[in-house]
Amino acid sequence: MTRSSSAERKIDVSWVTDTESATRRFQVFTERQLEQIPQLEKLSDEQRFTMRVVANVLPFRVNRYVIDELIDWDNIPDDPMFQLTFPQKEMLSPEQYERMADLLRRSDDKAEIRELANEIRQELNPHPAGQREMNVPLLDSERLDGIQHKYRETVLFFPSQGQTCHAYCTFCFRWAQFIGDKELRFSANEASKLHRYLQTHTEVSDLLMTGGDPMVMKTKHLEGYLRPLLGPQFSHIHNIRIGTKAISFWPYRFISDPDAEGLLELLRELVARGKQVAIMAHFNHWKELSTPAAQEAIRRIRETGAIIRSQSPLIAHINDDADVWAKMWRLQNNLGVYPYYMFVERDTGAKRYFEVPLYRAWEIYRDAMKQVSGLARTARGPSMSAGPGKVEVQGVSEVNGEKVFVLRFIQGRDPEWVQRPFFAKYDPEATWLHQLQPAFGEEKFFFQKQYEAMCEEAMRQTD
Ligand SMILES: *Cc1c(COP(=O)(O)O)cnc(C)c1O
Ligand code: SF4
Repeated sequence: MTRSSSAERKIDVSWVTDTESATRRFQVFTERQLEQIPQLEKLSDEQRFTMRVVANVLPFRVNRYVIDELIDWDNIPDDPMFQLTFPQKEMLSPEQYERMADLLRRSDDKAEIRELANEIRQELNPHPAGQREMNVPLLDSERLDGIQHKYRETVLFFPSQGQTCHAYCTFCFRWAQFIGDKELRFSANEASKLHRYLQTHTEVSDLLMTGGDPMVMKTKHLEGYLRPLLGPQFSHIHNIRIGTKAISFWPYRFISDPDAEGLLELLRELVARGKQVAIMAHFNHWKELSTPAAQEAIRRIRETGAIIRSQSPLIAHINDDADVWAKMWRLQNNLGVYPYYMFVERDTGAKRYFEVPLYRAWEIYRDAMKQVSGLARTARGPSMSAGPGKVEVQGVSEVNGEKVFVLRFIQGRDPEWVQRPFFAKYDPEATWLHQLQPAFGEEKFFFQKQYEAMCEEAMRQTD
């Protein structure tokens, strides 16, 4: 499948509908409402059945804004926004697909379907890189489950009310949390735990609110987490980052939702009182930045003094094309959004469908960088968020006749690793760090022994 037709590359505004209506109601569709999406009537019964099969295994959630204003229904199934949100047959192996299809053809027993779905999910590496076990910190010897502290300066916080999204990306590496146990309990003292942890860790300068999408939360909940950080005991927390895909999936969060004004007011106050507020926006494709609503959301956020930085994985069928990245970065530059990271897609879920070899990822990165102004060349990558740290593929080179990958740590579990170049044997098929071998006949990468010791230590603590 190619996504480089000229028709797709130019911004076509004909699909922008009815932007005057100021108030939008959020209307969501999950696998149970697939049949109610009017645009799907154009598809054959066979195509709709295929979607049902996959949506019974992988999470599916989409909303009216995405359906009406992002997806070009004259260009499906190739349309990147359709690929971003709708299930595709090849996301499962032929064998997995047939097992579920066969069951759905002969049964509508919910328990039986759920059991098979769970079996297949277990085959899809639902919890990559042991993130959960290794990075959960302790406070007075109690595990703080909504917090991850991997890199010295930055604490990740997963507020329980923010563990869903306005729509789901088909490639999401957090997909496993969207299925099964959806009733994430709200614990009343969650905010106070976060605050106690931050107060005692003065080495931390950054709080990163993440999810899911923290912007699905009501403003009043966000305030409960963030406003206390204005107190003098948190003067070491200089940067408040909020990860979100709301500008893409529900820009009305910043425009016409009942508490949109309150949200902007909160950002404005944090900035006015000395915090750097960074909205870490997730954009995969320029199309997401092209609607009047998305551009209005960006304008409103910037007007508060908050900065918008952007990050995205590189994903086959959605954005594995240098021109798409170049156009996206250029548009971001025009709108005042700073490109921050290009990620390598993680080894989980429908990886078989989305993965791009590392050498190819680097080529796309390079070909995109070549095309844009220096001001838009601010994204680092392609970067793998792996166990030892964020590892960037700096390029492919040759040393003493041996073809190698040149790599470096952008972030390391030990800050001493940061910015040290290292080398791996070139492998045109490798898609992730664990598939790489050290170059020059060396037995291990420089960090490997230390990292293995860290893993053993973490295992001892969780036992
Ligand atoms: C990426 C990441 C961060 C933030 O790293 P920066 O390079 O400062 O953006 C923090 N914690 C974890 C676990 C991460 O993966
Ligand atoms: S917005 Fe982020 S967390 Fe939500 S589905 Fe997409 S990738 Fe996953």
